[in-house]
Amino acid sequence: MPEAPAPHHTRTIRDANGLAAAGLVPRDAVPGLEAVQARYSIAVTPAMAALIDPADPADPIAAQYIPRTEELVTAPHEVLDPTADEPFTPLPGVVHRYPDRALLKPLLACPVYCRFCFRREVVGPDGGLLTEAALEAALAWFERTPAVREVILTGGDPLILSPRRLGAILARLAAIPHVEILRIHSRVPVADPARVTAALAEALAVEKPLYLCVHANHAREFSPDAATALRRLTQAGVVLLGQSVLLRGVNDSAEALEDLFRAMLRHRVKPYYLHQLDHAPGTARFEVPPEEGRALLRQLRHRVTGLAWPNYVQERPGGAGKVPLGPVWEVG
Ligand SMILES: *Cc1c(COP(=O)(O)O)cnc(C)c1O
Ligand code: SF4
Repeated sequence: MPEAPAPHHTRTIRDANGLAAAGLVPRDAVPGLEAVQARYSIAVTPAMAALIDPADPADPIAAQYIPRTEELVTAPHEVLDPTADEPFTPLPGVVHRYPDRALLKPLLACPVYCRFCFRREVVGPDGGLLTEAALEAALAWFERTPAVREVILTGGDPLILSPRRLGAILARLAAIPHVEILRIHSRVPVADPARVTAALAEALAVEKPLYLCVHANHAREFSPDAATALRRLTQAGVVLLGQSVLLRGVNDSAEALEDLFRAMLRHRVKPYYLHQLDHAPGTARFEVPPEEGRALLRQLRHRVTGLAWPNYVQERPGGAGKVPLGPVWEVG
């Protein structure tokens, strides 16, 4: 029987069958990937599916989102909660590890599910939306914790909340006198740019400074639709920062990193963090050792504008927090 033509992707693909129907994995891979899907969520948005070249086995967009059976193998050094958030959780949805800032996680769903995700054991489409009562308790915690000057909304991805709900949370936080800065970490502007509507931009146009840390790992993720979404955000007064993970097969060359950081800057996104991979289960194929990461960054120094330079950081095990990995130069 001849192959059916690949359907036009208009919906997020959420399972192995959907990936095969879209021509993104071979049919005979489906049973193996169904075992992966039973453990880790799958989501590939139309925007990201459109960027994948199915003929390229090393496609850097596919590498980030298309599951592989190796994910079922947990290496000895991999741990369930690599950032050790749990001991720093005073109440559901809040993580307070550093004195002046704390995380608020209103939900644990994302527009896409990245295969290297450090929160892969907890993120998913049907988990983690705080109840009204839990959200109210979390907001009340921020109101009575004056040491916290910055609220960082993360998850999951806060930008998949409805503009009305997100706007209400931001307005409430911005009204707290000791909260000086709001920050959101999100993959939406590149992975699902259609969600950045005028209504969402309006919800983000709060009185206090709002920094949006955009997660992107490859220059190609900055599609024309992503450009439109990012422009809409800057026009709403949002300050854009970039956050990336150093990933084997995605951005593990000086050229790929240069292209990524230059693409960010062209879209008014200032590279902020380049993360060393956290050791979440089944992510070993993405590992780039820190010495290799430092060598890559050394190649970029002087070659690209200083605006492109990120902080290369690693989350220390056991909750010690993020530390810079260098590189450093001996001077004097
Ligand atoms: C990463 C992180 C932050 C933010 O750290 P910055 O260095 O300010 O970007 C805050 N709280 C927790 C628990 C974190 O993991
Ligand atoms: S968007 Fe972030 S939290 Fe969600 S799967 Fe990707 S890395 Fe994990």
